[in-house]
Amino acid sequence: EMYPYLENTTFKVHSPHPALNDSLEGDIQAFLIDEDQLHTYDDLTKVNPVTPTTVLKCLQARYSVKVFYTNAGCTLVALNPFQPFPDLYSLDVMKEYHCAPQPQEFKPHIFIVAEEAYRNVQGQLEPVNQSLVVSGESGAGKTWTSRCLMKYYATVAASSSVLKSQDTVERIERRVLDSNPIMEAFGNACTLRNNNSSRFGKYIQLQLDRCQLLVGASVQTYLLEKTRVACQLANERNFHIFYQMMKGATDEQRKEWKMPCGQHFVWLPNSEKTLEEDCFLETVAAMVHLGINAERQRQIFKILAGILQLGNLNFSSSTDESQPCNLDEQAAELLCVPAEELQMCFRVRTLKAGKQSVLKPCSQAECSMRRDCLAKAIYAQLFEWLVTFINNSICAGTSTWCNFIGVLDVYGFECFQINNLEQLCINYANEKLQQHFVAHYLRAQQEEYVSEGLEWSFVKYKDNQSCLDLLERSPVGVFSLLNEESRLNRASDPKTFRVRLEKELGDNANISWDKFSKEPHFTVAHYAGKVNYQMEGMVEKNKDPVPPELINLLQKSDSPLLHQIFTDSETENPTTKGLSKVTVVSKFKNSLESLMKILHSTTPHYTRCIKPNPDCNPMSFKKEEVIMQLEACGIVETIHISAAGFPISLLCMLFHVFFYSFLISVCLNCIHLNTLLNMSTTIGWIAITISTDIRCPQGMYLTDFGDALTFPVAPPGGQNCNLSGALVADLVERASHVLRLCPYRSGPGFESDPQPFQCMSFPVSLPGFWSSSVLSIKGQKAPKNL
Ligand code: ADP
Repeated sequence: EMYPYLENTTFKVHSPHPALNDSLEGDIQAFLIDEDQLHTYDDLTKVNPVTPTTVLKCLQARYSVKVFYTNAGCTLVALNPFQPFPDLYSLDVMKEYHCAPQPQEFKPHIFIVAEEAYRNVQGQLEPVNQSLVVSGESGAGKTWTSRCLMKYYATVAASSSVLKSQDTVERIERRVLDSNPIMEAFGNACTLRNNNSSRFGKYIQLQLDRCQLLVGASVQTYLLEKTRVACQLANERNFHIFYQMMKGATDEQRKEWKMPCGQHFVWLPNSEKTLEEDCFLETVAAMVHLGINAERQRQIFKILAGILQLGNLNFSSSTDESQPCNLDEQAAELLCVPAEELQMCFRVRTLKAGKQSVLKPCSQAECSMRRDCLAKAIYAQLFEWLVTFINNSICAGTSTWCNFIGVLDVYGFECFQINNLEQLCINYANEKLQQHFVAHYLRAQQEEYVSEGLEWSFVKYKDNQSCLDLLERSPVGVFSLLNEESRLNRASDPKTFRVRLEKELGDNANISWDKFSKEPHFTVAHYAGKVNYQMEGMVEKNKDPVPPELINLLQKSDSPLLHQIFTDSETENPTTKGLSKVTVVSKFKNSLESLMKILHSTTPHYTRCIKPNPDCNPMSFKKEEVIMQLEACGIVETIHISAAGFPISLLCMLFHVFFYSFLISVCLNCIHLNTLLNMSTTIGWIAITISTDIRCPQGMYLTDFGDALTFPVAPPGGQNCNLSGALVADLVERASHVLRLCPYRSGPGFESDPQPFQCMSFPVSLPGFWSSSVLSIKGQKAPKNL
């Protein structure tokens, strides 16, 4: 007689929620009523019911008590505090997380993510290499978070012998960290949305040796926004480095750079704005640490000064040759090229007709375009050279490192008033990352369920493959068609391109056109929302042509650096005539593909940074802003997906409650003890049933994957138990098995009426209960000493 009481006590209870949606509003209200509790939700998937309102309220409640990190299943949500909290990130805190036996038990924190990845490497479980994906919109805190992660590893993964040695300059951790100020000086700028906005994407691989010590790093960058060099929106600035030079130069340098105090530069708007990022000396110090010697620095700064001079060039209409061009000379001198040739390059185009060359004067507008083009090409090549230099300086030899932790800092999904090719690329990257995330998340969940013997499939979940197909499929996808258009040897007409798109892709549900808009455009339905892309100028941007005359000129430059960076790029790509022929889209797609390959071969960890208000003010939480970002970051998706499964996993602890002298089996672990107790008092009992989902009276699903057991939590008298957390903790005997709970939800996949549930309930007496073998579920034996 294994189950002496079961048969008699089986009963049927009908769901208290016959119509899910009708009662949803009530449930939301019921959830929100407990205002003091909202900030205690460490994991958004435990919010019940999960709706934008409830999730937002929880985040807001946490923000107001200065709790900035919250989990959303396997994702960490990081709200930007917009004020320093040094105590949250101190060396001691790092050590605390690093040394904790179970860091996951701490409150959510970026260091937990860092530590988890680190321990995965230590554990050598496949895939051993790790990727930390940090995303979010501009100003959300990506750069800050990536820096924080790098500092964490530079601290916990530093060898102690190195720590003791005084030779800090040589320390690899120092050099890895020093790559940040340089990359930020050259790649970041003050925008409307963030004073220190990264204008490129990056993937930094932190290389670990066999003992998991940091021995090197390498950086891969994506899509630098080089247009910023020659064109800044109102109230935005150029890249920091220019302002740093302008503000930090010594008299001697000013002379050398032809940059007298008070000189006006067209390409340096808003230079009166003082930012903490304007720290020339720090950038120079980092350059020194990384081994960029004084001579190289001089060459770099001269080139940059030359770019600034280019911005001050004005072109008269081509017929008027009498204009003095003394500015040309300054630019030419700084770039170490002959002034007349520089001028010729701007003003005269060489047309190739068979073997013949025809010279054609450029219009005023064409001259300016060629000038901008030159500046952008120089800056982009210089940036690449810097990245390569940094890599050579911080990369460990292949024999020294064996595993890596990669930090991916990418621009989040973007949707502006006017969106162009850049946004299309960025949103495509986000679409790719979202697909990767979903695939990973679902696979991980599925594997977990299977290992627990739970039958569940996510067939109802819709992925974003159709949108990716629309963009990347060949030969009829947006990118292919755009490339085709770009290869045509004629000036592009956005209207023809639009007609072509509509003809080829008109029946694709992910693309549409606003019938009333006169501007040529197309609208893509991304997972995070619809975005309108303007087609004017898109083809031209995609071609990104650099006139060959300009490249020839730079190759002849007497500046060794300029000469080198333009000769190298030519030799690397002999078939493509240097910088011109590969379209922006193809280049981006290729680099994204290799990034995805790396990501697929690693264990990913996701951090979504959220900007609580557009003005970067501390302690201000704007709901509309936040919900939009939650959607754009895929958090709402994450919660939807997790709603399609059983997001709450509880390690079931068996403990006995002596003061009622009967046993209960309750679930603990990742859920907070308080939450548990709240739950158990509202549930009233813990139910386990055989392979069927059951709905509990208070709107909780309880599902078990095996043997049936149910015990009332309430004592036989009918009151609920009232256990103090400490007492419960005391009483915890040992872990037994895992229960999965699915909070009551509505939404996709949950339309079906809940089934009346079956549950079995029986009172047990202590010795009798333990002596039955009922509890030997999943190989766990009941405690012996009862
Ligand atoms: P992004 O790289 O996403 O554009 P940043 O990382 O530059 O954004 O963050 C914007 C600003 O917010 C930074 O200047 C930084 O001072 C602040 N910030 C971000 N995260 C934190 C944090 N955890 N604590 C304090 N300040 C932060």
